[in-house]
Amino acid sequence: MTDRREFVITSAGSLLALTGAPAFLKRQSAHDLVIRGGQVLDGTVAASVERDIAISGGKITAIEARVGARGTEEIDARGMIVSPGFVDLHSHGDGNLREDPRMESLVRQGITTIVAGQDGSSRSEARAQSPEPAGAFAAMLAATESAGPAVNIMSMIGLGSVRSRVVGANDRPATPDELKAMVAMIEAALAEGACGASSGLEYTPGAFASTDELIALCRPLAARRLPYATHMRNEDDRLLDSVDESIAVARGAGCPLQISHLKTQGPRNWSKLDTVFARVDSAARAGLDVAFDRYPYIAYATGLTNLFPVWSRDGGTDAFLARLADPAVSARIKSETLAKVDLIGGWENVHISSVRAPEDKAAEGKRLGSYAKSISADPYDLTVAMLNRNRGSIGMVGFAMSEENLDRILAHPRGMVASDGGSFAIEGPTRSGSPHPRGLGTFPRVLGRYVRERKALTLAQAVNKMSALPASRIRLADRGRLAVGLAADVVVFDPVTVADRATFEEPFQYPSGIKAVMVNGVVALRDGRRGNQMTGKVLRPAV
Ligand SMILES: [Zn+2]
Repeated sequence: MTDRREFVITSAGSLLALTGAPAFLKRQSAHDLVIRGGQVLDGTVAASVERDIAISGGKITAIEARVGARGTEEIDARGMIVSPGFVDLHSHGDGNLREDPRMESLVRQGITTIVAGQDGSSRSEARAQSPEPAGAFAAMLAATESAGPAVNIMSMIGLGSVRSRVVGANDRPATPDELKAMVAMIEAALAEGACGASSGLEYTPGAFASTDELIALCRPLAARRLPYATHMRNEDDRLLDSVDESIAVARGAGCPLQISHLKTQGPRNWSKLDTVFARVDSAARAGLDVAFDRYPYIAYATGLTNLFPVWSRDGGTDAFLARLADPAVSARIKSETLAKVDLIGGWENVHISSVRAPEDKAAEGKRLGSYAKSISADPYDLTVAMLNRNRGSIGMVGFAMSEENLDRILAHPRGMVASDGGSFAIEGPTRSGSPHPRGLGTFPRVLGRYVRERKALTLAQAVNKMSALPASRIRLADRGRLAVGLAADVVVFDPVTVADRATFEEPFQYPSGIKAVMVNGVVALRDGRRGNQMTGKVLRPAV
């Protein structure tokens, strides 16, 4: 991009903007940047090789045993791993881009590209202005780029957002005309650069889509070979039915399938993983292009309303809160909710991550069971009262997954790493609430805990599952690998010390061991210091 400002960071670390600077400065060195002597993992599963990497004009210009000419900046990577920047296939990191475009927690993990628009929900500018679908997705992408993100951003089109706009919030089938309008909106978004379509079938109104409707909505993906990414209808007792439905949608539409954050939730469902793998593998043998992703934690984050049955949330927040108070249905809601709490192992496994009402701030960061006990309240009654005070807007983390299954999901040849996390900083407006630590720790945690400590997978496999594999899912042709001519998104990390530090109790901590991160050839992080460059771009799939 010619409108991007170019920077040089001198060896002393001071920042020198080259826009308008004398031309001789640009000619001083043969390369913008040379990363010397690192063990290069190129994004495939090939063993590491010691190489120098030269970067100029945002691209990788040489990968050689010894790059002779000097770079304007040099990074000594001896003893370090040099790999492609991480591609986060399932991210909510665009959510507070305007509040804080530095995207600190992403850059500091080594993430250089995020894929937003997940769980059925994508942003759309000009939503109200125009009933005409064409142009809305492009306007959203343009607004995203002009916000100056620190990492590259792609987006899927959210099928829940599309349904919300065309059908509304209610639980009813789409009419034939509405279906046509939704398909047109999806076609337009794909033409404008969407890199897949996502569903969130545990959320309203996405949950109101039938399997047949999902097949119709996903057909436009087939010709482009872009994925249907699904937060499935259920991830616990009806996990296997949900896997079958996901396969049926992708097969019916003829498109690739990406199962988002695959998990076997609730101890009584942990034994189902073998069957999940068997069904996925058999669909693959029958020709389906299928894969899945997972974050490296045994707890999930969602809204506290998700403990309540989908039917009780039909029609939005007001309708939901009215039903909680309606004697005709409140007992049934309570019994179904208590069954769900039981499934995840009781109230002590429900961690309150964020509230809005000041009178409930004391609950933040606590387990609902202990908190209720501490104020002598019944946990269910307390939950209902808090939902009323917070207008339904309470974040929760549920501890209900198996670590052994997590090892196996990450190690499976069709498994890859994705954070499902947001973007945060340890200071500033995004230090707020008690978020899931995955937004600050996912990629270093896989490298530290699951590669180095648990040995669930090799380092080269892990890097592959963080770079080339996710890049290929969304047809990102010029990233995800280290090769001459490709975009210079690169991370340098210490395989001995790389680790996450964010926890559920203290989430606002950056990881350790990530030494340097380059986004589009510009140093975004070096030895703990950020450049203040916002060199991310909006990317589109190569179709
Ligand atoms: Zn999800």
